[in-house]
Amino acid sequence: MHVYWASVFILPDAVIHDIEKLLKGFLWCQEDSARGKEKAAWKFVCTPKDQGGLGLKPMKEWNEVLILKQLWKIVERKESLWYKWVNTVKLKGRSIWGIQSDYKDSWNWGQLLKLREKIREHLIIPRRERYRSGINDHISVHDFKQTYGDHWSNEWRTKYPMVNHIQIPVINNNVDMVKWVTNDNIRVEYSTKQVWRDLRANGSFKDWYHVVWFKQLVPKDAFILWLVICDRLPTQERISKWKPSFNSLCPLCGRIPDSIDHLFFECCYSRNVWKIMKSMILFQGLTCKIGDIITSMSNYPFKNQIWSVITRLVIAAAVYYIWQERNKRLFKGEKKNEKDLAELAIDFIRVKLLTLKVKQSKNIHKAEEIWEIKWK
Ligand SMILES: [Zn+2]
Repeated sequence: MHVYWASVFILPDAVIHDIEKLLKGFLWCQEDSARGKEKAAWKFVCTPKDQGGLGLKPMKEWNEVLILKQLWKIVERKESLWYKWVNTVKLKGRSIWGIQSDYKDSWNWGQLLKLREKIREHLIIPRRERYRSGINDHISVHDFKQTYGDHWSNEWRTKYPMVNHIQIPVINNNVDMVKWVTNDNIRVEYSTKQVWRDLRANGSFKDWYHVVWFKQLVPKDAFILWLVICDRLPTQERISKWKPSFNSLCPLCGRIPDSIDHLFFECCYSRNVWKIMKSMILFQGLTCKIGDIITSMSNYPFKNQIWSVITRLVIAAAVYYIWQERNKRLFKGEKKNEKDLAELAIDFIRVKLLTLKVKQSKNIHKAEEIWEIKWK
């Protein structure tokens, strides 16, 4: 619902704050308030998945991108009720670029005019320069060619080297279109997805991205693995950092406080679970250290090959089930032995594997043999 309103109105900051509070609550504790329970900063959660985050959309920026579509419709001057209204009531025949914000304007219209700056650099040539050269905002390609011929002037070529890559189009019967220039300098049709990509700051690609996020993933397993990789799991070691009086021992072995390295899979209990689960994959080079396992898998080339999928499912499930067992022992006093826990996880993966569509091959036969399943 909020997405609908966010595409119609620029939402006030207070509304954005309330919506994000609800989303945080849903993500971290399935209640309406997440105070003190967040495992990762909201900004980090909102980073794209391939840059380490969860790929959620920060409301304020997302709201702007949705609203930009309204502005783009005006720039395009495409026939629509919205454009007709804007043109008659607001623009009165003038270009959207030429009008100034007025104190009589509604708050929403004023905000919309402010957003013009966001798309300005994604249009090819700055308006001021076009204006100086005598090209007005409404000029069509046809009129442009009548005036300037088939070549860019030398002055423009020197001033804007980018025009050297832009061919003045051949006149045909197609209607003139305004195109969006991407950050990679490619002209495309306007789409909210592309605009979102272009207007966001870009971070560096995380090479573990494919280890956690892939088509066949189990969401709950992937989420816990993501927390592990980002070092956001509330282990005893982590809690004792901000609560020095906190003193507890690993509920699985009872020897030392648990930490990410201990749980995955240095602890004698976890190591046994991992050993049983590892017997179900062909990739036997994986150690008992989660950091090394993730690094090995990040370099594994066959992203869609069945054994790559199975290996990633097994890693994420091992992490998820061990974390669940740890919590059940800690908060509910329930216990399972290593063999039962590993089998529970394996059964779950087996059911998941049966939902995959596969083509018969040597690898598939091998998987059927090891997992004792039969694909249709
Ligand atoms: Zn332990």
